[in-house]
Amino acid sequence: MSIIQEFEVEDKRLKQEVINCKKCELHKNRKNPVIGEGKLHSKLMIIGEAPGKNEDIKGRPFVGRAGKLLDELTHSIGLEREDVYITNIIKCHPPKNRNPLKKEIVACKSYLDRQIAIIQPAVIATLGNFSSSHILEKYNIESKTISIIHGKIFHIKSNSSDISIVPLYHPAAAIYNPNLKDVLLKDFKSVSLALLQNSNK
Ligand code: URA
Ligand code: SF4
Repeated sequence: MSIIQEFEVEDKRLKQEVINCKKCELHKNRKNPVIGEGKLHSKLMIIGEAPGKNEDIKGRPFVGRAGKLLDELTHSIGLEREDVYITNIIKCHPPKNRNPLKKEIVACKSYLDRQIAIIQPAVIATLGNFSSSHILEKYNIESKTISIIHGKIFHIKSNSSDISIVPLYHPAAAIYNPNLKDVLLKDFKSVSLALLQNSNK
């Protein structure tokens, strides 16, 4: 089996495991888990927080208002949804859109770790505080609040990974604070730059 076929098999296995997952309380009220979607070997992986109400109904990430803005942002750097891989740190919808609990993030962690291993992205864009601190800590980088680190490019170089992380504001925050949309548009240029830096290697 080629490496690509192995990744496809692992992707299918992972989907099946998430569908059957009961590792945290969120499985009780979810309609559908939201595993993630997009190009399996995308250079860019976008990681949100947790599925909202619309995502829970459809079983797909970012299909509501925040998703519409996310599409606008990816278009601004010349990418379509099919060009990227989009997922969340938590695969099941937290009731009333509450923040994910630490224990839920820990319970769900291995799925995201496996997705990163399958996709092997060059750049990870993290949306919001929870996703940004989770991913930076995974790579042993001290995290600060999103208002400080948004739009910065963090390079990680080790034997196992050569990856850039770009923390961004969560697009849902820009729905209520239109000034943040301009900040997001500007910060997406850092995503584009990180992709370009990687393609020059
Ligand atoms: N917000 C997120 O963080 N993820 C989604 O999938 C939708 C909204
Ligand atoms: Fe399992 Fe993650 Fe869903 Fe919790 S949120 S039930 S750990 S898939």
